[in-house]
Amino acid sequence: VKNRSKNDYEFFDREMKISNQRAFQIKNDLRMGLENNQFYMVYQPKVSPEEGIVTSCEALIRWKHPDFQEISPGEFIPLAEELGMINDIGDWVIENVCRQLQQWESLGYDLLPVSINLSSSQFLQVNFTEKFWSHLQTYRVHPAWIQIEITESLFIDNMKYVQQILETMKEQGIKVALDDFGTGYSSLAYLQKLDLDILKIDKSLIRGISNVSTKKEIATTIVQLGKSLGMKVVAEGVENKDEMEILCRYDIDEIQGYYYSKPLTVPAMSEILKTKKIV
Ligand code: C2E
Ligand code: CA
Ligand code: CA
Ligand code: CA
Repeated sequence: VKNRSKNDYEFFDREMKISNQRAFQIKNDLRMGLENNQFYMVYQPKVSPEEGIVTSCEALIRWKHPDFQEISPGEFIPLAEELGMINDIGDWVIENVCRQLQQWESLGYDLLPVSINLSSSQFLQVNFTEKFWSHLQTYRVHPAWIQIEITESLFIDNMKYVQQILETMKEQGIKVALDDFGTGYSSLAYLQKLDLDILKIDKSLIRGISNVSTKKEIATTIVQLGKSLGMKVVAEGVENKDEMEILCRYDIDEIQGYYYSKPLTVPAMSEILKTKKIV
């Protein structure tokens, strides 16, 4: 903050106003976006490096806003959470993915498990599980095709409740992944208590892993930790061959990232389902 001129502050102030205006408009437009079908899902393949095939994928929401063009979920999901709109958006996501799975199945594709990101506030909503199961039922989706991705923030203050819900979901065959691991709270105590299926190493630990030895050490430790708890370990944000090769040495189960594929539209993901290969 030293050596800032008055101009810097005016510039900063102006930038803040623009970003506030944008946030304001985005919040204002979320409902309309949902009603006018401006949201759609893309699917990013996850690859088993050992088998060299696509073994599952992650569903990611996209918003084609009429004025701003594409708005990233990294920007609008936190704003939707602030407004409480995340429940409606999250519900839309679950229904959309279930409908997609039904469609792929009816067209004769061999399915792959699809993971759905769940915001903590959405998960903690009282009628969350009812709505979740009702979508699976409506579209006759077998729970084996759905994985959920949750983050550590879910467990703060809600351990018992969350544990109970996860247990019933797991009993029904839903696989549970802990997303963004290695950032945030990362307490080992609850990992042991929770009996989750999949650990996703956050992309911030993958970025630059080939040059940063501390990142290598943290990543190997996480892989070992996950494995020792009987979890599958996944790395996200893998962008190049160096990163991929390092992670293969650690015996990682699945790799997700631009190195293999960016998130794909439905037609492109359908092609992948045919061969399970990245072309
Ligand atoms: P996330 O769950 O950690 O998802 C991974 C993000 O990394 C995605 O960003 C994906 O496009 C991006 N990514 C994948 N491979 C690479 C790579 O090699 N390099 C880099 N730099 N990035 C890569 P995206 O789609 O923009 O989503 C951002 C975040 O928004 C997600 O982070 C997730 O927290 C949230 N989000 C996305 N879709 C949904 C959704 O349907 N529901 C909820 N609640 N949150 C969602
Ligand atoms: Ca995720
Ligand atoms: Ca993540
Ligand atoms: Ca995230």
